[in-house]
Amino acid sequence: MANAQQPPPLRTNWAGNLSYSAPRLFEPRSVQEVQSAVRVCHHLHALGSRHSFNAIADDSENQISLSALNSIDLDPSASTVTVGAGVRYGDLAPVIEARGFALKNLASLPHISVAGAIATATHGSGLHNGNLATAVSAVEFVDADGRLVQLSRSQAPDQLAAAAVHLGALGILTRISLEVQPTFQVAQTVYLDLPFAELEDHLEEIFASGYSVSLFTDWQNSRFTQVWIKRRTDCIDEPATLGPEFFAARRATEKMHPIPGQSAEACTDQFGIPGPWYDRLPHFRMKFIPSSGDELQSEYFVPLEHACPAIRVVETLRDRITPHLLVSELRTVEADNLWMSMAYQRRSLAIHFTWKPAGDAVLGFLLEIEACLAPFHARPHWGKIFTLPPAELRALYPRFTDFRSLVSRCDASGKFCNQFLTALCSG
Ligand SMILES: Cc1cc2nc3c(=O)[nH]c(=O)nc-3n(C[C@H](O)[C@H](O)[C@H](O)COP(=O)(O)OP(=O)(O)OC[C@H]3O[C@@H](n4cnc5c(N)ncnc54)[C@H](O)[C@@H]3O)c2cc1C
Repeated sequence: MANAQQPPPLRTNWAGNLSYSAPRLFEPRSVQEVQSAVRVCHHLHALGSRHSFNAIADDSENQISLSALNSIDLDPSASTVTVGAGVRYGDLAPVIEARGFALKNLASLPHISVAGAIATATHGSGLHNGNLATAVSAVEFVDADGRLVQLSRSQAPDQLAAAAVHLGALGILTRISLEVQPTFQVAQTVYLDLPFAELEDHLEEIFASGYSVSLFTDWQNSRFTQVWIKRRTDCIDEPATLGPEFFAARRATEKMHPIPGQSAEACTDQFGIPGPWYDRLPHFRMKFIPSSGDELQSEYFVPLEHACPAIRVVETLRDRITPHLLVSELRTVEADNLWMSMAYQRRSLAIHFTWKPAGDAVLGFLLEIEACLAPFHARPHWGKIFTLPPAELRALYPRFTDFRSLVSRCDASGKFCNQFLTALCSG
């Protein structure tokens, strides 16, 4: 039986903008201990690596961390790897790389847990890369009665499409299977100062210039301050080495961090030097603090066909938002069929904001940004900060009612329904 430990009074999320209200934390060491914890609790919510910026992982009574469930089982014949729910991408990647395998894509940081990342449809970039939950081929979770439930794409494709982006609502995930592929190398090149106008004229070409492309901006001077192009070295139509100019941008001659003034030592290698997929697809290295540390984040997904008007409308707010911003990043995400994914049935442009930690001021800007992006039916990132009212949020997800029904079936008593989910489902 997993004993609930009394945590220190101020248990916070990674950014420190949120103190969890759950007084108790369970730290089970086995699936059986997860089942015992679920059976004894009236209310319980899983905690991943705490990188979400809102209360999606909080609970009024109990949290449960699966960090001790860290098994990694590669099945080369099935091209899958099955991980315990506590495993982080940064732990998993070198293990499968050593055996000649890779994941299709990664987020900007490897520090996050697989269970927590798929819960919120965490993504990297790439016109042909879905979010990280699209790699899920099976999940195992403990439902509200303490029973172990297994769902796989081969046996229950529709249920897996519902459960992959799970928002922590279905139960406590214990194991996740992910598709793997033969390992590959990636070369990363950074360019400086790409005018917005170039994107308007060459959007498809710019985002297709690499396996994964990120554009950074401070919204000033109608230009992207940095363009990060990550190319697979095994793509015949994509030479890894890029020239000194990229449209009207120029190749960086020193290693860059996306946020001005931060040390580029924290970033993965640049200058077109090839390296393993897991050491190039994220922007930040496992042993360093990713991004800034003292920050807030928000992100909105619009259909890719509306990318340029959406960028221009956010640009109109530039003189007020730039002073409060560390950086913005624009990435693409392939459309998918996962019910609660921000890219559900929409190839998307993700417009991300890393804010200075200026609480209320940021909330004010979010209201304005959301109003500007409303005509494009922008979906906010589940793990970041947003102010969109629940009814508007629900309307953005065509399968929301089906998801809510599934949640009720897995969790009739509302054991896993925290304040975040209560507001979403009924607010
Ligand atoms: C510096 C930084 C950079 C980031 N970069 C990116 C990025 O590039 N792309 C992107 O999309 N997002 C990014 N994010 C956001 C981050 O990926 C998401 O918030 C993600 O959900 C965090 O995962 P986590 O493991 O920390 O989960 P938590 O934040 O701890 O929890 C998230 C959700 O997962 C659920 N959960 C966790 N474990 C389980 C389990 N075992 N069973 C059931 N539910 C569970 C929780 O209940 C909660 O609902 C970034 C965040 C930070 C701080």
